[in-house]
Amino acid sequence: MLFERDQNGVEASGGEGKGVVRVDKVVFGGPQVVLIAGPCTVESRNQLLDIAGAVKEAGAVMLRGGAFKPRTSPYTFQGLCAKGLEYLAEARAMTGLPFVTEVLETAHLHDVAQVADMVQLGSRNMHNSVLLRAAGSCGKPVLLKRGMSARIEEYLLAAEYVLQGGARHVVLCERGIRTFETMTRFSLDLNAVPLLKERTWLPVIVDPSHGTSVSRLVTPMARAAVACGADGLIVEVHNRPEQALCDGKQSITLEAFAAMVKGVRDVAEAVGRTL
Ligand code: PEP
Ligand code: MN
Repeated sequence: MLFERDQNGVEASGGEGKGVVRVDKVVFGGPQVVLIAGPCTVESRNQLLDIAGAVKEAGAVMLRGGAFKPRTSPYTFQGLCAKGLEYLAEARAMTGLPFVTEVLETAHLHDVAQVADMVQLGSRNMHNSVLLRAAGSCGKPVLLKRGMSARIEEYLLAAEYVLQGGARHVVLCERGIRTFETMTRFSLDLNAVPLLKERTWLPVIVDPSHGTSVSRLVTPMARAAVACGADGLIVEVHNRPEQALCDGKQSITLEAFAAMVKGVRDVAEAVGRTL
């Protein structure tokens, strides 16, 4: 496999700079835990600029926000699409934060990759090998989320598809899996973090928002993720979670995010990293 380590934990293939993925000034897989934050969905210019300014101030180094949304129901808000990308670019210009946003289908890849700093492949598309390969050759780093029902082995093979497309810049993201538990929508599988890091040289980040689906669980699980070796976090933050068009229940407020950063920083320092 393209990302495998040998028995000594050394990269078995590849070239320069492996194990590290750069997005603008942001480095995944280095000593710093990368903090990505922003709304689930770009809802309006004001909403995004408000949130972007606040997360930057609190310590985020990258912005997230969906313009094309993969919704479970076709009757819910599907995103602002091209307009959303425009607002994301404006938020980047305002804050200096590079942004990651999801690509839903191959037809959008070119347009999204042209403006985004990093392309996100979502949980629902992890089995879409055509999109995975195409994303691997889009010229931008790829954030590949784990399928919500995918075994780790299947997830590794999905990453292999992206790498086969030509990308060397792939970051993995554990985002919770379906289990028999009903008090949370997904169960955050933190086993995946050390396991993936044992098997690959790709950086691994964690999404405690989708992974828990409950805003009050986000900070404790973000701390746990960093404790077990995550190279970064991607967190949903909203200026008015109760009015969010998507994933409000798992979105934390701007104030909660600022508090979260402090709590996560303590853990990062305890495990020899920075934030
Ligand atoms: C998201 O990041 O907003 C998202 C839809 O994530 P996932 O693909 O993990 O459900
Ligand atoms: Mn979401």
